[in-house]
Amino acid sequence: MLLYQSTLGQAPAVDFETAVLAGLAPNGGLYVPTQLPQVTLQQLEAWKGLSYPDLAHEILSLFIDEATVPAADLKKLIEASFSTFSHPEVIPHHELTGDCYVQELFHGPTLSFKDVAMGFVVNLFDYFLRRRGEHRTLMVATSGDTGPAAAHASIGKASISTWLFFPTGLITEEQVRQMTTIMSPNVHPVAVNNCKNGSDDLDGLISASFADAGFRKEMQLSSVNSINWARVMTQMVHYFYGYLRYAERVGAPVNFAVPCGAFGNMCAGSMARRMGLPVGAMIVANNANTSLSVVLGTGTFSKPDIKNTLASAIDISVPMNFWRHLYFSLEGDTDRLRYAWETYESQGSVQFSDKELAAFRKGFLTYTVTDENILKTTRSHWREENYLLDPHGAVAVAAARHYRPQLSGPIVCLATAHPAKFPETIRQAIGDLPAAGKHDSLEAARTAGERKYEFDYATMHRAVPAVMRAVMSDRR
Ligand SMILES: *Cc1c(COP(=O)(O)O)cnc(C)c1O
Repeated sequence: MLLYQSTLGQAPAVDFETAVLAGLAPNGGLYVPTQLPQVTLQQLEAWKGLSYPDLAHEILSLFIDEATVPAADLKKLIEASFSTFSHPEVIPHHELTGDCYVQELFHGPTLSFKDVAMGFVVNLFDYFLRRRGEHRTLMVATSGDTGPAAAHASIGKASISTWLFFPTGLITEEQVRQMTTIMSPNVHPVAVNNCKNGSDDLDGLISASFADAGFRKEMQLSSVNSINWARVMTQMVHYFYGYLRYAERVGAPVNFAVPCGAFGNMCAGSMARRMGLPVGAMIVANNANTSLSVVLGTGTFSKPDIKNTLASAIDISVPMNFWRHLYFSLEGDTDRLRYAWETYESQGSVQFSDKELAAFRKGFLTYTVTDENILKTTRSHWREENYLLDPHGAVAVAAARHYRPQLSGPIVCLATAHPAKFPETIRQAIGDLPAAGKHDSLEAARTAGERKYEFDYATMHRAVPAVMRAVMSDRR
């Protein structure tokens, strides 16, 4: 059976179900598989032409053993999770000029890439919890899209209570309403005012809650943010799918350009490559929040203050999943990782050696996309290719365009949100909001009733647990 261990070592390895339900390892590390299954070119060849759910079943079966989730149950869970997507292909593609392609990851119920893994992961939670007769409280911090995806996936599930924390003013009104208009009694949206560092501040609240062993136990806390292994695992599938669709032949390189925030999506891509997927370059595209470009360029990993940009879902300065990437790049040296993590946490920065840098930057390129370039890229693709990008898709495409001349093989650009979630930026870019920038579900949410809690950053560390306890005791 494949076991999972903490990136910080020390704790004993656990099985898949334990790793998923815990969210975060007890010592604050992230769960990683103790070994990565390998995939051969023959297997890839055999997977060509599979539908998205069928391919997901093949790949997820490598990580989830039959004793934990029998194959027939896994199949049902996968089918239920992807049946909420509005496009028959689940994840369709759009061809751009220059051997570049857009992989549209936003056809799920809340119109962002977060739906791709969230539906499945929350269904998996529900499956395990019902079987055990247990309940969990999920704390979800969001930079705009994780919250809506978690809220939607939680509707009507008595096995979980889901608390969504979002930074007031730093996400779009469309994203807010996707959370506050959900009336399911187990879904609790919380606006936090005055977050200087956006969703990183809210990640801090969640880390503090997890670190409080009494509260963690009392509330049966867990997380479906991308610190949860199951999120990253499920996100590997679209790399396999995109690869099989665009590789000239199995074995030839396909490059990926990814708008990165917490590095969950790209971490999944890097693990797919480690499993044997013949990916060419992986382009880490970021906005003015450049911690990833900096660490991949210089080996210095630090936490600068957040800058607010037009691609707000990736206004993140603490890309947690980079630690998973480091774990595999540094060959599972958990002592080294623990030392680096402690330095990063206590000093706000850690320096890796040239040898370590060479190991973890291998196969990656980085590119920083300014707000001006987001607008320019959106405008030029609308005018010249009649295709509307959201600001995050524009980050990926701008990076792909930059590297196009020096790469061989197709470049797949991950489009992570529907443009209708960012109407103000679309208007700013092209002077208008065309039909492609609207969506019925968001129009409906505009006039629906809302409910939410509201706190201030300065007092949330006390106020939030008190409210969560009160709601929990009502539930009992
Ligand atoms: C979450 C998100 C990303 C970044 O994904 P990570 O896994 O956090 O790197 C990119 N674009 C959009 C629209 C997102 O919601």
